[in-house]
Amino acid sequence: MSDHKKILELRTQYLSPSLSLSYEDPIHIVRGEGQYLYDAEGLRYLDAVNNIQHVGHCHPKVLSAGMEQNALLNTNTRYLDETIVRYAKLLTKKLPEGLDVCFFTNSGSESNDLALRIARCITGSKETIVLDGAYHGHLSSLIEISPYKHNAPGGEGPPDFVYSIPLPDSFRGIYRGDNCTADYVNEVKKVIYKINDSSKTLSAFFVEALMGCGGQIVLPEGFIKKSFELVRMFGGLCIADEVQIGFGRMGTDFWGFETCGVIPDIVTLGKSIGNGHPLSAVVTTKEIADQFNNGMEYFNSYGGNPVSCAIGEAVLNVIEDEGLQENAEIVGSYLIEELFKLQSKYTFIGQIRGQGLFIGIELISNTDTLKPNKTLAAKIVNQMKDAGILISIDGPDHNVLKIKPPMVFNLENANELVINLKTIFDKNYDS
Ligand code: PMP
Repeated sequence: MSDHKKILELRTQYLSPSLSLSYEDPIHIVRGEGQYLYDAEGLRYLDAVNNIQHVGHCHPKVLSAGMEQNALLNTNTRYLDETIVRYAKLLTKKLPEGLDVCFFTNSGSESNDLALRIARCITGSKETIVLDGAYHGHLSSLIEISPYKHNAPGGEGPPDFVYSIPLPDSFRGIYRGDNCTADYVNEVKKVIYKINDSSKTLSAFFVEALMGCGGQIVLPEGFIKKSFELVRMFGGLCIADEVQIGFGRMGTDFWGFETCGVIPDIVTLGKSIGNGHPLSAVVTTKEIADQFNNGMEYFNSYGGNPVSCAIGEAVLNVIEDEGLQENAEIVGSYLIEELFKLQSKYTFIGQIRGQGLFIGIELISNTDTLKPNKTLAAKIVNQMKDAGILISIDGPDHNVLKIKPPMVFNLENANELVINLKTIFDKNYDS
């Protein structure tokens, strides 16, 4: 029996059926290096999707930082240790002044759950505003604030303290075009008034500055800024989920929220922060951290351990030393330009959007109704995989091709991606 088949059988036998596999014919990856993955037969794949391995698969400096610290010591935050303070200082230097107190966790979900807990503790309220289509994690508390999950198969809808704003999608949302910001801000206002009218108070507004699972949605200009103003006016905290978009991926800025000209009260980090190592963080102000310190200890067996912190520090240094934020801007802008050229050729491309190395291609089946084309998206992703390039699908209608490669993705890789996309678009273009 082939390894491939054997692994599939063992997965079926021993792993939860709730887990999914990418691609119709799943791939057996055995090695990664930079922006490339290699399967058991030695075939090379260009990785245009793994944003967790932010500075590249198996980056030698990240690996050796982890190995060296692991060989020396791994404990927890209850001992004095230089690694954690050095890393916290370095990380907060990357954030705007004021956001300078860290909590370390092990996953984006843990960070978002902690952010929720902080907001609830400080405001004495659970009323939370989120955007439709948003995903903030897999914990029970986060399924509750993730319409992407609770409004999808298996979901039970939101609890009564969670309020969703219609997806602020200027292409296919309930308000469209270049001037839809005020309409979406008005939706936020309506929700806040509703909370107020029911004699409740607002706890938090949870948001990604550029939505990942929502379908690489670039929010209407000024939406976040105006929403933050409203939320704060009514005593709520603004929480920016940077799990997918942080650490330079936006190119022009180190953080997604910076592209919107705002400073959140709490920032949650994950994925790229540890290049695949389970490290995550919550960063907030001293004032908020002090208020949260109500007698209940925050302890996390693994969060902030010396090995994680050494890895986090190495990731930040590599981003800086290798100019990866600048690379995201140069390669991302080039890629978006090249994709725009394709858009004029294929009517099934509804919209190209994104920033830096976080790009979406929305596929539609009708240019008048903008009906999402989920079938075509699935076909293209599988055909791209067969051509040796890995991309994925997202969005509530599963019709957005997602491109979010390791940040070492270069211009040559961008060309390889576009040439292959073009060939596959041609193959599927019948009008
Ligand atoms: N927030 C966002 C925006 C995410 O995309 C994800 C994961 N896809 C999470 C939070 C949860 O992170 P994790 O899987 O590390 O728990």
